[in-house]
Amino acid sequence: MYSPADPTATALLVDDDRIAWLGPAADAPTADTVVDLDGALVTPAFVDAHVHTTSTGLTLRGLDLAGTRSAAEVLERVSAFAATLPPDAVVLGHGWDESRWPSPVPPAPGELDRAAAGRPVYLSRADVHSAVVSSALLSRVNADRPGHGADGWLRRDAHHDARTVALASVSAAQRGDAQRAFLAYAAALGIAAVHECAGPVISSEEDLTGLLKLTGGPAVYGYWGELGAAAKARDLGAVGAGGDLFADGAFGSHTAHLRKPYLDRDTSGHGYLTPAQVADHLVDCQRHGVQGGFHAIGDAALSTVLAGFAMAAARTSVDAVRAARHRVEHAELLDKALIGGLVEFGIVASVQPAFDRLWGGAGAMYATRLGAERALATNPFGAMAGVGVALAFGSDSPVTPLDPWGAVRAAASHHNPVQRLGVRQAFAAHTRGGWRAVGDDAHGVLAPGAPATFALWRDAGPLVRGLPAMDAATPACAGTVLRGVPIHGEVGALR
Ligand SMILES: [Zn+2]
Repeated sequence: MYSPADPTATALLVDDDRIAWLGPAADAPTADTVVDLDGALVTPAFVDAHVHTTSTGLTLRGLDLAGTRSAAEVLERVSAFAATLPPDAVVLGHGWDESRWPSPVPPAPGELDRAAAGRPVYLSRADVHSAVVSSALLSRVNADRPGHGADGWLRRDAHHDARTVALASVSAAQRGDAQRAFLAYAAALGIAAVHECAGPVISSEEDLTGLLKLTGGPAVYGYWGELGAAAKARDLGAVGAGGDLFADGAFGSHTAHLRKPYLDRDTSGHGYLTPAQVADHLVDCQRHGVQGGFHAIGDAALSTVLAGFAMAAARTSVDAVRAARHRVEHAELLDKALIGGLVEFGIVASVQPAFDRLWGGAGAMYATRLGAERALATNPFGAMAGVGVALAFGSDSPVTPLDPWGAVRAAASHHNPVQRLGVRQAFAAHTRGGWRAVGDDAHGVLAPGAPATFALWRDAGPLVRGLPAMDAATPACAGTVLRGVPIHGEVGALR
């Protein structure tokens, strides 16, 4: 059992939603129900602090076209899959790769119409940078858009438009199904809570309110990414007006806002907000009793955001700003002074260790875009943790897959050795850190009196200071419990 209260504990007693006791099994008090954990490792459950539920769920529920060997086979699979869907559903599929086919021509719009019995069809290629679509979707994409193809194979802007239309055509029932699929998948990975980053551009009000109504899975904390919309966020049931409230874009598309230009293109990206807008938003959030937050990736965007924090502190007080526990999402490129700003205003850094795993290191995306020196300064987890910035780990799923142990491992083996976290520190950022990020300071640790939220792990292998060795196989989640209620696996007998 991974417990700072009693590292020798092998049993715990759950009473209602709390841990009533933990210690050696031989000393266990009597209980109404006894569950033999059969040597499973028990740890606090994970929290994923940045997810997009519906788009991930649609992928989980979508048609998997990986391994198809011809356009004909794609059409057969579309036909069989569409037959399982309501007549008004959109057929979403992914993973075809025509470069491996004897005849490298993907299905045409008319063929997709027939296979899906008239339902709209969107099938993304394996690399997700293009898609083939049915006639109905094709007719809704402007033929002048870059990347448009009359053969129904859409790239670049035309592809983004088609994806937006396809996702907007998802019915309420299909959306609910996707959300439930996502939550069940998260629970099965030992995740007991997620922070949904919703917003008017990236999802919708109905999407968020529908999600917040679902019960029986991980706890969902909503963030609504709209400027000056603290009252709306609160009315929608969100805990914050933030998340993907964009102060800039992303490095991959050269839109993250930089102080100095990109190495591989003559631009410094784009800042979408001014310090005054940031300040107004934060004051609005504090007035309405919700957290504020911003998506800020580049150093110029973070500088704008922190200038806004200083203005908000001047108009209210530093203590009021700190007490609101605002957040910044991603925070990928920042120096010591910017990190100092996070500390000064008590800002939670919601960060994604998988970004360093995917894009850090020599020859990878950060180095290509920023050059070696700035690439080394990205995702400075060690520097942030070292001066007391509260870190909350997340995946940004579907940008990177839900993989909490992978995130712990990525933070512990950062490409820049100086920025590595200890395994226990990284684990805390993915458990306790996520609860702290929503203002729940008691959660995320196994101790008497704490909420009974934990996960059971099989095949955890040899433990190092209480946690699985990072070079061993990923442990399998055998059960997940949220506030005393089983949400996955072998712990049904607890209730
Ligand atoms: Zn996001």
